[in-house]
Amino acid sequence: MNIIIFGPNGSGKGTQGAIIQKKFNIPHIETGVIFRKNIAEGTELGKKAKVYIDKGELVPDEITIPMILNRLKEPDCANGWLLDGFPRNLAQAEALYEALAKENIPLDYVIEIQLDRQIAKNRIMGRRLCVNDNNHPNNIYIDAIKPAEKDGKFVCRICGGELSTRADDQDEAAIDKRHDIYYDTEKGTMAAINFFKERVNVITVDGSPGVNEVSEEILKKLG
Ligand code: AMP
Repeated sequence: MNIIIFGPNGSGKGTQGAIIQKKFNIPHIETGVIFRKNIAEGTELGKKAKVYIDKGELVPDEITIPMILNRLKEPDCANGWLLDGFPRNLAQAEALYEALAKENIPLDYVIEIQLDRQIAKNRIMGRRLCVNDNNHPNNIYIDAIKPAEKDGKFVCRICGGELSTRADDQDEAAIDKRHDIYYDTEKGTMAAINFFKERVNVITVDGSPGVNEVSEEILKKLG
């Protein structure tokens, strides 16, 4: 099962991605996570990417496109994958579509989570990352995934692990820039979504209800 999931930053895309990954037992490939891992490990790729990520800008396509196309060739992707955070602009969508067509790899589902820009922004600022597992979603503003409390401090609601914030999640200018890119219908992520809408059946869901309602809707539409 090969799936792409779209949604603005703060729409719960990562949370829903974790649920879909479990259901279909496929790797959840998140561009942002790959970049952050490289930054933490101090790799050359991480050093290059950090400059853009800190500003909320896209890492250049020359770096991102081959990184993801190579990732899809790894053995754990043989039975499918869930792409999250890629493609993020029209050029990436075209490159992915072409690469898949060339290798006869089907694209089974494209999911779009729709959410109002201001709601998405509030959710981003409440997001907390579990140091133990990226698929342990926590958000101080969303009841369904609100972190637990221990010794007066928020900890991961799933494993009790420490929580951290992303620098680019607390920076309003960076959030606005990321949303500008997402909602751009000319060359940005909305352009990528429209590209797929012209070619495949895109499943659209409303991201405003709670985590469980949204995941039920997605799983129902995935059949
Ligand atoms: P995310 O974790 O998806 O919010 O991504 C964090 C940051 O990583 C973004 O603001 C970009 O700087 C970078 N990034 C993630 N995905 C892509 C992509 N497909 N193309 C270029 N840059 C990306």
